[in-house]
Amino acid sequence: MSATYDLVIIGGGASGISTALHVHAVAPHTKMIVLEAKRYPREKICAGGIGARAFRKLERIGVTVECPMVTLNAVALRIGGEMLVSREPRLGVVVRRVEFDHAFAKQAIARGIEVRDGCPVTAITIQDEQVRVETEGGDSFTARAIVGADGVGGIVRRATGFARGELRAQVVELDTEEHPGDQPRDTIVFDFTVRDLHGYAWDFPTIVGGKPLVCRGAYVIHNLGPDSPKARIEHYLAERGLPLSRYKLKQFAERGWQPGAPIARPRVLLVGEAAGIDIATGEGIAQAIEYGYVAGPYLARAVERGDFGFSDWTSHVHGRHLGWQLRVRHACYRAFFSERRDSLERMLPKMQSLFKLGVQDFAGRPLSKLAIVRGAGQYLAALARERMRE
Ligand SMILES: Cc1cc2nc3c(=O)[nH]c(=O)nc-3n(C[C@H](O)[C@H](O)[C@H](O)COP(=O)(O)OP(=O)(O)OC[C@H]3O[C@@H](n4cnc5c(N)ncnc54)[C@H](O)[C@@H]3O)c2cc1C
Repeated sequence: MSATYDLVIIGGGASGISTALHVHAVAPHTKMIVLEAKRYPREKICAGGIGARAFRKLERIGVTVECPMVTLNAVALRIGGEMLVSREPRLGVVVRRVEFDHAFAKQAIARGIEVRDGCPVTAITIQDEQVRVETEGGDSFTARAIVGADGVGGIVRRATGFARGELRAQVVELDTEEHPGDQPRDTIVFDFTVRDLHGYAWDFPTIVGGKPLVCRGAYVIHNLGPDSPKARIEHYLAERGLPLSRYKLKQFAERGWQPGAPIARPRVLLVGEAAGIDIATGEGIAQAIEYGYVAGPYLARAVERGDFGFSDWTSHVHGRHLGWQLRVRHACYRAFFSERRDSLERMLPKMQSLFKLGVQDFAGRPLSKLAIVRGAGQYLAALARERMRE
């Protein structure tokens, strides 16, 4: 079979489905298909923490994703021997991706968007006026443009001439029973206690088959040096009296967004983890959804004008909240995993307002000017104290 579309979206995860829904919201007659390699419900190795800002974006186009979730009201950071907690009502949720992504794809299908699962793309050829996409089953598609929403190891980057990307993390996770030392079940914990770890360990409350468990994991930024995420989580669990051998360990990679790295070329647009997400924390679901929110109207305009050069996609992303957040998080990554870490660990407990701003941004709350001024003031005061120390 061979069929022709305006847009072929490759990958039916958070970014692919969000892009399809947002294109459909502004231009419902766009001829578009989402090709997903696996069959729903499909597993995606992920802790499933989603900042509520993603849902604020989806609400604007009338999309609600119904699946089991744990509601979050607090973020905790273990750092420099202290536990910093910031509370913000309904700041986000923890889901299981196998359930969330299926429910999300159903929202697209319910709106009449063509989503074909069990359809891995095996070859992509960019021609003068179109792109040809071939799939494992032998079906082929031609499109005026394609969207690479196929995640960290997808085919689109490889087949269309993008570099692999320098900012990479390896991540391991498993689900355990609760432990007496755990924070309340409405709190996600990021643990930066281990000083030589380029990353962190986490505890996220989760719900598996109706049972309350805790998803624990280790996020290890690999481009900063070789490391063993498995050894890291083993140590983390041992400290809690939990033997690694009792649990099923899952490992997967992540790709960070890199300032200046291309995320489009003529007739090919990258979104979500194919483009790159936050390297500092590895948070990528809300960003994947936000990529779709930004890409939707952008692609609809490209289809209407018949202009698929995509030369301004990078600057377009930069100009939006998504781009601002990616830049801020990248700056945090550079500062924190550097010789300034000692100093930042001392400063952080004195910058509770700045921490709260970060949590509010994660939650999608509007940031008040007063709060920004207060946060900046705390930062400058903490910095001045550090300078005096030196
Ligand atoms: C262990 C771990 C824990 C994480 N925890 C969190 C967390 O708690 N919160 C958070 O925000 N982020 C987390 N992340 C990151 C998050 O999972 C990703 O950033 C996010 O899923 C990116 O969404 P995406 O749609 O861009 O890519 P994906 O979700 O990876 O979706 C890509 C889709 O493309 C499909 N695909 C791939 N190749 C092809 C092909 N050839 N043809 C057709 N389809 C194809 C795949 O099957 C997949 O469904 C975690 C990541 C890891 C590894």
